[in-house]
Amino acid sequence: MSKVLVIGAGGVGSVAVHKMAMNPDIFAEITLASRTLAKCDAIAESVKQRTGVSIATAQIDADDVAATTALIRKVGPALVVNLALPYQDLHIMEACLEAGVNYMDTANYEPREEAKFEYRWQWAYDARFKERGLMALLGSGFDPGVTSVFATWLKKHKLSSIRTLDILDCNGGDHGQAFATNFNPEINIREVTAPARHWANGAWVETPAMAIKQEFDFKEVGPKNMYLMYHEELESLARFMPEIERIRFWMTFGDAYIQHLTVLQNVGMTRIDPVIYEGHEIVPLQFLKAVLPEPASLGPTTKGKTNIGDIATGQALDGGGEKTFYLYNICDHEEAYAETGNQAVSYTTGVPAMIGAALMLGGVWSGKGVFNIEQFDPDPFMEMLNRHGLPWQVEELPAPLSF
Ligand code: NDP
Repeated sequence: MSKVLVIGAGGVGSVAVHKMAMNPDIFAEITLASRTLAKCDAIAESVKQRTGVSIATAQIDADDVAATTALIRKVGPALVVNLALPYQDLHIMEACLEAGVNYMDTANYEPREEAKFEYRWQWAYDARFKERGLMALLGSGFDPGVTSVFATWLKKHKLSSIRTLDILDCNGGDHGQAFATNFNPEINIREVTAPARHWANGAWVETPAMAIKQEFDFKEVGPKNMYLMYHEELESLARFMPEIERIRFWMTFGDAYIQHLTVLQNVGMTRIDPVIYEGHEIVPLQFLKAVLPEPASLGPTTKGKTNIGDIATGQALDGGGEKTFYLYNICDHEEAYAETGNQAVSYTTGVPAMIGAALMLGGVWSGKGVFNIEQFDPDPFMEMLNRHGLPWQVEELPAPLSF
């Protein structure tokens, strides 16, 4: 029975606290804090209606380390779950160190002024978390998160070593809007407009954004174009599974999304450097976020499924030579919405956030220092995915990917 403080009242925060409230034996007391108190209160109301559980709420600017430290001390949680934006990661880690509380998140730190996802800033906190006898778990969402647990599980149960790994992220959902993003538009657009990178033979290979495309037939979704992209779990997988020769990340985008994004980029609306408009400094991408639909508002209209998984090729554990396995989860937008009031992209992130938090609170995953999810036994996490709404399937493919 433990107290948890969740920071961030977006779609992911909403799913995570709903799922925590559904597991009161693990999460005895829940506080949800965010920049806008009204959003926390609206989520608390929904949690009360759906589960009967009352959660506490608080207003916090998590970039203010002193105020966040004071809030942590006041709430007295065993764990702080950071579901705000990547910009807040280091500030919340600082506050956790100051207050002496464990930390968890779903996205790695990124400086506002540079679209550069890298773990190095958070890995640099390892010694300080060790010294304080505290634990930080990084990246317990779906990707990063489940995709790394899938790779760890395949290495434990199917392959003695992985030679190539492809992560395939398909969102077959249709929200009925001409252009919208399924999670925070600023973070999403920074991610997809950054150059693509994949890991090959011990080095990064960089290619222009959205330049490499393949079609893939996703189960329960159908054929979709997917694009090679950089994604943060490539860095931690390359570090913790150094034997993998090639690791790639693919994400599906529809033609309409690509067309809109290309125009927005061409006219300068995705710039992250400030421009002066009528005497005020504005960042075009932040202005764009303000006029795009809120991801949370897409929930009621989104239909279709997500299918996210790993395809790994390597030496089979059963001694049968080289084999290829595909391990994936399919999540239905409408079912996710019916359960928590949020669409599947928030659901597939919020559920693993709840699971990571549960494993830390229960001491199933423990340690001192800063950890990535690949460093722990995948089995308890995989078992909880099946029980808490994200069941997975594994199948052997007849051959490795042909591209
Ligand atoms: P949203 O933009 O919907 O929500 C972010 C929330 O954080 C908002 O409530 C926002 O407040 C709050 N917030 C922002 N800045 C601060 C601050 N300084 N202090 C306190 N609260 C703040 O994002 P999502 O819910 O979609 O995503 C949440 C996190 O999950 C992000 O880091 C995202 O990158 C990550 N993510 C990870 C995925 C994975 O698979 N690993 C997939 C999808 C998302 P306000 O409402 O006032 O703006």
